[in-house]
Amino acid sequence: MKTKWWHNGFVYLILLVAILTLVLVFLPRGGPENVASIDEFITQAKQGQIDTIQQDPSHNSVIGLKDGQAVIKTGFDGSTIELRNYFKDEGVNLPIDVKPSGTDWGMIALQIILPMVLLGALFYFLFRSARGAGTQAFNFGKSRARLSSDNKSTVTFADVAGVEEAKEEVQEVVEFLKSPQKFRTLGGRIPRGVLLVGPPGTGKTLLAKAIAGEAKAPFYSISGSEFVEMFVGVGAARVRDLFEQAKRNAPCIVFMDEIDAVGRHRGAGLGGGHDEREQTLNQILAEMDGFDTNTNIIVLAATNRPDILDPALLRPGRFDRHIIVDLPDVNGRKAILEVHAKAKPLAKDVNLETIAKETPGFSGADLANLLNEAAILAARHNRKDISSKELEEATDRVIAGPEKKSRVISQREKEIIAHHESGHALTAKMLPNADPVHKVSIIARGAIGGWTRFLPTEDRYLWTRSQFDDRLAVMLGGRTAEEISFGEITTGAQNDLAEATKLARRMVTEYGMSDKLGPRTFGQRQELVFLGREISEQRDYSDKIAQEIDEEVHNIIQHAYNTAKKILTKNKAKLKEIAEQLIAHETLEEEELNKLFEGLRPQPASS
Ligand code: ADP
Ligand code: MG
Ligand code: ZN
Repeated sequence: MKTKWWHNGFVYLILLVAILTLVLVFLPRGGPENVASIDEFITQAKQGQIDTIQQDPSHNSVIGLKDGQAVIKTGFDGSTIELRNYFKDEGVNLPIDVKPSGTDWGMIALQIILPMVLLGALFYFLFRSARGAGTQAFNFGKSRARLSSDNKSTVTFADVAGVEEAKEEVQEVVEFLKSPQKFRTLGGRIPRGVLLVGPPGTGKTLLAKAIAGEAKAPFYSISGSEFVEMFVGVGAARVRDLFEQAKRNAPCIVFMDEIDAVGRHRGAGLGGGHDEREQTLNQILAEMDGFDTNTNIIVLAATNRPDILDPALLRPGRFDRHIIVDLPDVNGRKAILEVHAKAKPLAKDVNLETIAKETPGFSGADLANLLNEAAILAARHNRKDISSKELEEATDRVIAGPEKKSRVISQREKEIIAHHESGHALTAKMLPNADPVHKVSIIARGAIGGWTRFLPTEDRYLWTRSQFDDRLAVMLGGRTAEEISFGEITTGAQNDLAEATKLARRMVTEYGMSDKLGPRTFGQRQELVFLGREISEQRDYSDKIAQEIDEEVHNIIQHAYNTAKKILTKNKAKLKEIAEQLIAHETLEEEELNKLFEGLRPQPASS
């Protein structure tokens, strides 16, 4: 399908311009014919026969002028400053200006004609292709959809783990692609458009490739950013071309990755109502409506923002089938780790189940990344296999970024950070509904000075009020510890405070956990679609309620603060002990922490 380069008009144009330029540059130049010696030049200048000196722009000759008339020319090779100094040394103090000595065609060609020709050519090609007039010059408008059937998608369902429900649901799509006829006679309703929905990195793209691999069907993919082109109409032309190719090769899969880039609510773009995105979206809708019952094409799309999609995309006959690809639970994580560990030599002490337990909230991509980081670390340690030490370090890296050992921290700062982190750890230990502490460290990572890692005992889908209260107390434990140990607070708690405030607010406005305001929600969150971010909240309550919400948020946080303060004041000696150990060792693992915690009994916050 590739256009041969000599069929491409643009190549000839470049050649033409290049030849023209060469000819013009080497054309003989004009100017006074009689070239005098520099001594003669100086003599004339001293005699007052010259009133201005003009330097040739190519810096290899100078001309003497009298009343604007060129009277003498001599060779001079050097910069204007050199020229000035030379004449000064000779006792000539005339003004020097730099001007072309007559019409220099080469210079004009270089400075004016060449850019104009190039610009003209560029515009010509841009407009031609933007109108989709079928030029092959830049291959604009041709969908860059990649046909992956030559190098068949080698991904299979075995490569996708931890999303069993989604795999079962797409099984039907595979069956259809394998034998559309058989599927029809059995009266199966053919899925037309299937939307894979889920957070980033959960394997949506991977799953789409696996469907193609399993069905051994051609696979045409195009991704969000590729739809949205700089020139109006190109995105739509790409879509048209993509479906044309697909129809010729049916049964097959058309996969539109990150469709939210183009499929946002129409009329919400920054560029007004009729922007490029809208045309592309309309084209997608038109293509999908144009399928008749015999079209054996399945259109897959993936997004992590189904909430912002244009409703028209989700209507029956379009993407009416939604498959959720969610973050994996602990078993899913273990299965994903197993898939990615297959090609990596693991040491005997590695237990993938433990890692799965330690990584709640990790996506499939995070887990793949984790094993990759561990492999790199193992190589750096000159190991032949990956041990649990590297995996542990890799987990910290994926969560918080690489260690910043080079950052210089004063002893005083180190003490404050140590007390802060010990405060988190100790409050967590003493509260029955808080997650157990897994690790505490005062080695800086990324932007943070120290950190405490918790290990939830299970994947959580529901949270209780007591869990939230204890969690808030743990968040505030860092700052409270600074206060108790040093009588002073630092900026180090900024992030904790922001998180705590956010959580407390959600407890009141979204989860109905405030006794005073009762079981209802407050405010309708809205987002500005073109920014893709939640930036405004529509108030559906009065100013009085707003004040009450603020008060309730304040109360909840104050309560948590009091809890933390009570615990840490009571166990001040322990706090100091942990902080000292932390300063000495920089990182405390679960076992060391448990030794330090020995004898401590968690107590409900109220007692
Ligand atoms: P998404 O498209 O949902 O953002 P990707 O499919 O691009 O995520 O996933 C990126 C990478 O993460 C994959 O190539 C794969 O290596 C890994 N990965 C993600 N999810 C899974 C999974 N469920 N099973 C195995 N590997 C996964
Ligand atoms: Mg993806
Ligand atoms: Zn903190």
